Amino acid sequence: MNLYSLAIHGGAGTISRKSLRPEMEKQYREALETALQSGEQILKKGGSAMDAVIQSVMSLEDCPLFNAGKGSVFTHDAKHEMDASVMRGDTLGAGAVACVQQVRNPVLLARRVMEQSEHVMLSGRGAEEFARGQGIAFESDEYFYSEIRFRQLKDAIHEDRIQLDHTPEDKKFGTVGAVARDANGLLAAATSTGGMTNKRYNRIGDSPVIGAGTYANNRTCAISCTGHGEYFIRAVVAYDISCLMEYKGMSLSEACHLVVMEKLKQLGGEGGLIAVDAAGNIALPFNSEGMYRAWVRKGEPLQTAIYKDEISSAE
Ligand code: ASP
Repeated sequence: MNLYSLAIHGGAGTISRKSLRPEMEKQYREALETALQSGEQILKKGGSAMDAVIQSVMSLEDCPLFNAGKGSVFTHDAKHEMDASVMRGDTLGAGAVACVQQVRNPVLLARRVMEQSEHVMLSGRGAEEFARGQGIAFESDEYFYSEIRFRQLKDAIHEDRIQLDHTPEDKKFGTVGAVARDANGLLAAATSTGGMTNKRYNRIGDSPVIGAGTYANNRTCAISCTGHGEYFIRAVVAYDISCLMEYKGMSLSEACHLVVMEKLKQLGGEGGLIAVDAAGNIALPFNSEGMYRAWVRKGEPLQTAIYKDEISSAE
């Protein structure tokens, strides 16, 4: 079976038709398409799922519309602390970085941790030192600066709240991720984020936590999450879905529904995820108003969606 599947997300949250102006909606759909196509090019040529998810996530990291890489939100101290992770489903190899500053593409660094270090997760200054040794690109603070992000920080400080991206104040940005199954049956997942506006104390969310925000196993599925990280960590969301498939024999869509629409919701966790299984089925469940998402399978047209009433799976 030489089918390939690729899905990406640009964050879930309070995103509704009412809240998103048509010209902004167009920009989001275009950015999602560009990112999806860049990953699909790799899969089309027989490239690996890992190369494809890295390519798509880098495209989203370089786009100021999303809360990752260039578009990352501000911390309380007006810095950008980014988290990212990757995982491959054949070897269960994984790499993650947390709290890194000025790294242009944290997802690339996460991959280097997986491939070039003997560790799974590096953080802060140590991760940056490792990045320098690897020749990873750094950018100045200006590269990450945007007026809208800075205003969000000032508002959050003023109201003394730590703000999840895409709350009603700010519906337009989000963590990014990609999952893929390549023509050889290899699954891979990648996630990258700037976390929460006004975060302090080197807070780290679910995105770099293997099993919570990201997971891949060729026997089951590949997952990348977005939403309120504290809940996703406690619910071990990505691994839970894989376990339900492996140990209970659930289908991808059944497992996704149980975890996102029932278990996570009962806990009070808002958000969603993208998932692909070993057969190339795609699920994109979320329990929030909307989720920026796009997906494609070999021989099928590329699809983008934002709102709840749009299609959210390919089987
Ligand atoms: N999950 C991310 C975090 O908690 C935020 C997001 O998905 O936008 O850091």
